[in-house]
Amino acid sequence: MDDDIVPALLETINQQFDLKANQSTILRVLLQAAKNNKATYLDANKFAIEIGKILGDVLGDNISSSVLPDGRMYYNIGQRILGSALKKNHDLITGFTDDVQGQLNKKAGIGLKVQTPAFNEDRVAGLVNRLDSEANFDDVAWMLKEPVVNFSQSVVDDAVKANAQLHYKVGLHPRITRSLVGKGCAWCREKAGVYEYPDVPKDVYRRHENDRCIVEYNPGTGKHQDVWSKQWKDPEKDAKIEARKQLVKLPSGRKFVKSKHGRVRQSERDINDKDIAEALAHPIKVFPIETDKLGRHAQKHIGEKTTVVMNPDTNKVITTYQTSSRKRRKYSKGSEE
Ligand SMILES: [Zn+2]
Repeated sequence: MDDDIVPALLETINQQFDLKANQSTILRVLLQAAKNNKATYLDANKFAIEIGKILGDVLGDNISSSVLPDGRMYYNIGQRILGSALKKNHDLITGFTDDVQGQLNKKAGIGLKVQTPAFNEDRVAGLVNRLDSEANFDDVAWMLKEPVVNFSQSVVDDAVKANAQLHYKVGLHPRITRSLVGKGCAWCREKAGVYEYPDVPKDVYRRHENDRCIVEYNPGTGKHQDVWSKQWKDPEKDAKIEARKQLVKLPSGRKFVKSKHGRVRQSERDINDKDIAEALAHPIKVFPIETDKLGRHAQKHIGEKTTVVMNPDTNKVITTYQTSSRKRRKYSKGSEE
């Protein structure tokens, strides 16, 4: 019986990815722009390309026919590796597009919640099927390069699409711009342009390989704002929370880890990682860091659903509990004590 190679492989891939991502000057500059509320969809596209390239390199460095059983990327292996690695790409990229869209909405005076596109599992399955279709992985190894970059860019396109759709539904007139990078091929030149939603070419979001066109979204004037901001209810909220990234960048760009205590308390209270990530990513109130008698630091983040107390030095979650409705009312109105 063969050992399962996937867990160790995934761990190596994850570690190398994190290392390279941390070393990337491109990512650092883009994340800084996002932190300063200056990032655009153009930046999101650059971010996606860089993330995709890094993942492609790491996959290429670690996967070859020599490490795969029978030299083949069986479906079951491909699904677990790409499912996990591309989900992480999706989460990182949607974290960025959420920021970009949030800023766009804010500047346009639009009070709608940012739409986070769902992870495109069909697209992953397509890649995995294709990998499994060759007896020798080395014949399809190229699929872990450009198609991974292409997948990553499509996450940005999906974010544009999801937000434009919602804005159109509530009576706004979002504009989609597709622009060329360089001269572009004949197909791309034909698709390039500024379109008022929903009058967009049906494949405005489509990409061929090595297609670096940029699809951007401008919410327009937001002039219907006073009408719908009061009435709008978001029917996709639950689905959205469900789809929300498990690995969420904190404002400082760090990830959270669970301490033993945090894990116990959390399981007692039926709070999952997504709730914690959500509270840390979109807190309605963050308290100053406190120090206990032993000199340990703790900081409270109140999310809409969950409150998280975390050690800011280690990012360890000390405890979590449900945010009371009183606190939720108090802080979600933006009222400060
Ligand atoms: Zn083209």
